[in-house]
Formats: sequence, structure tokens, C-alpha cells
Amino acid sequence: MIFPPLHNLLISVEKQGPGIIQKDTFPLRYGKYSEIKTSEYEFRFNLNGEIKFIRGLNVNWPHPAEQLKRTDGNDWVYYTVGDRSGEHGIVSWLGEYYLPCLPYPSNPIWEVNYLSNPSIMNAFAAWSQLYGSLYGCREERLHARARGLISLILDNHDGVLHKRSTRLNEIIGGRLSVLPPDTRHVDYEIIPLTVADGCLYHCKFCCVKSAHQFQPRTGNDIIQQIRELKLFYGRNLENYNALFLGNHDVLEAGDELIFMAASKAYEDFEFEARTKNPFLFLFGSVDSFLTSKNKLFEKLNHLPYYTYINIGLESVDKSTLKMIGKPLVESKVREAFNKMIEINADYKNIEVTANFVIGEGLPAEHYHSLKALLRDATVISGGKGSIYLSPLKDSPKKRELLPLVNEIKEQSKLPVYIYLIQRL
Ligand code: SF4
Repeated sequence: MIFPPLHNLLISVEKQGPGIIQKDTFPLRYGKYSEIKTSEYEFRFNLNGEIKFIRGLNVNWPHPAEQLKRTDGNDWVYYTVGDRSGEHGIVSWLGEYYLPCLPYPSNPIWEVNYLSNPSIMNAFAAWSQLYGSLYGCREERLHARARGLISLILDNHDGVLHKRSTRLNEIIGGRLSVLPPDTRHVDYEIIPLTVADGCLYHCKFCCVKSAHQFQPRTGNDIIQQIRELKLFYGRNLENYNALFLGNHDVLEAGDELIFMAASKAYEDFEFEARTKNPFLFLFGSVDSFLTSKNKLFEKLNHLPYYTYINIGLESVDKSTLKMIGKPLVESKVREAFNKMIEINADYKNIEVTANFVIGEGLPAEHYHSLKALLRDATVISGGKGSIYLSPLKDSPKKRELLPLVNEIKEQSKLPVYIYLIQRL
């Protein structure tokens, strides 16, 4: 429903974008949302009236497809289309048409400091101005639905949004420091559910590890989280089609806990009512993946999800594993890589993907062995099994790594992309 302009604001109480993300549409649109347009900006809100996207419509805005997005963790991320478009641009590096520019330190191969670009930062001033205008017209004679939307938006001021992100962290037991790279397929819009804390290795190079030893949660804890998450998301729950079972190594938690968490969430979050193909994302480690029995993959394959399992392989070179402090032998990493290829071929609804490090100062043998591994892989699973190259956070001159990424891509039988580490 669109209402006649009010103080030069064009208000659409509810709009329906595509149920699933269509990667070739610009700018990115999906799900149900409300929209308010001024002559210079477009503001989109989720079904709870929380600001979600801002896009400039004025001539100073860098690109009509670019926009600011507020995450559930209350970060404002700027989506850029980059400086080259088409198949040789950002999509060839990331698999998506956008590069999310983050307001916190990460491992980006491009540094785009949107915080110092006044054309983008003016959008925040425009958001404050819009909030003031809505406050001013809340008593005016308006259609009940427009009044309802304005009241929801006013309820969700910046202080409330900050508190809500804190509440989300409380429910799941801490902020998620990293999302699996495969969550790019749902624009990183996942419902997080913690099944286990900590990880097995505590690798030296890792910038996202927690201090915890690996510890699975209890069934009761998981059920309690689901209950609280359902209340937390409220009406906007219907915009989510994906579940992330956290944290760094859920495979180690075992099939019973994973199956229980995924099934209960499917039911309670009512995925069935809105999508035939919800996504399930999780991380595994080399050891938990190798010790996982067929029973687990059979069960996952029969769940009503398409499941992505992401494994940190990092390197098939002994000296590199030692240098980055990953306590694994190279033969195990190869074994996990081969198992990934097998699982991808055997199970229609499971896709295992893998990460390898890149960065200045790594031994040449790391790149030789990686190229050989990807070149000689026996791939029988179509486009399944992406390889993600993760720039080491402290590696200087990350953009200079692009020719190297190209060389690896050219030799690989599997799709190769860059992993941008993002938190929730
Ligand atoms: S890379 Fe994975 S296993 Fe290693 S410390 Fe980080 S989270 Fe833990």
C-alpha cells in the first residue's frame, strides 16, 4: 500500500521483494519490507520497523546499485559494486555482485573506506532528519496503516537498535565473530543458533577464535535459544530462510545434537510455511569432518534444508601449516579434501566447501601444492564445493594478491572465490 506524499515523504507500508535472493537484480531486494522515499534517499525497514537499508537517489551517491545495510549485529555495512563491472569485476572474486565494506577490521582484499566519503555519510544525517520528520507528523491525520508504520519506526530509534543487537548476543551466548563464506548466498541473513562453543585447534593465525575449549551445549539450552530467538525476531522472522548452527565446529557436536537443533528450528521458525528450500550453514574442522560417519550425512541429506558445511583446510603444505600454527598434518588435510569431493558427489542436499589461506610471506610450496591439489581434483559434482581463499588478516598489500588468486582460479577444477571475514 502506497500513500500520497506526506511532507514530501512517499510511504509504502509493505512491499514484497523476491522470496529468495536473485543475484542479478540491482540493487539487492528480497523479502517483505516497508519503504519511505524522499527526493534524495530511499529508506527500507524490516517488518518490525527497524531501519535496514539506505540508498542514495541523489547525483552525489556513488552508484545507483550501492546501498548501506544495517546487520542484525547493528553494523552499518556499505555494499559497493566496485570499480569494474561485468564478469571480470567483483562477481569473479566474490561470487556476488557486491563487496560488503565493513566498519571494523577484517581481511578485505579491497580497502574501501566509506566512513570518509561524505556522499555516503550524508545518508546517516538524512536518516536522522527522516526520524525527526516522522516524529513531527505522528499526530497528523493519517491512514491507520501509515500511522502504525511510523509508530513502529519511531519505537526503533538508535538506542533501541543497539540494545536489540546486545540482546541477540545474550540469547546465543556471545557475538558471532565470523559467518561461513557460503552465507553470501542469503546475503548473510541467517538466524544464529549456538550448538557448541569453542573449537578444537586454537590456530595461531586465526583472528576469530574464542578462548573457549570446545564444549557442546545441552539440548535444553538449544531449545531455550530457539524459544527466545522466535520472540526476538518477532514478525520479521518470516524474512529469514536460513539457519546457522554455531559456532566454529558444529560437526564435532555430533549427529544427534545437530539433527535435533536443525529439526526443532525448522519447525519452530516455520520455515516450511514460506520456503521449499531453506538453507542450513555450519562449520566443521578437519578432524570432526573426517570422524563424521555416513549416518550424519544421511541424516543431514534427509533434513528439509540444503546444507552447506564449510571446513578450514588452510594448506596442504607442511611448512605452511606449521607457520600459521594449524596443528594438522598435510596428509589429513588431503584426506579431508578428498572426502569433501565424495560427499558433494554422494549427497544431493549437502555441499561441503573449503577454505585455504593466502597472504604475503607464505612459502612458495603452499601455492604450488594448492594449485596442484585443485588442478588434479577428480570433480564429479557439478559446480558444488567452492574453494574460498582467505587473505591472512595481517598480510600487507592484499590487493596485490589478486593475480595470484587468478592463477589459482585458472588452474582449479572447482569454483574459487575470496573469503571476506564478516561477523554478525
Ligand atoms: S581457524 Fe577454526 S579451528 Fe583454528 S582457531 Fe580459528 S576457529 Fe578455531
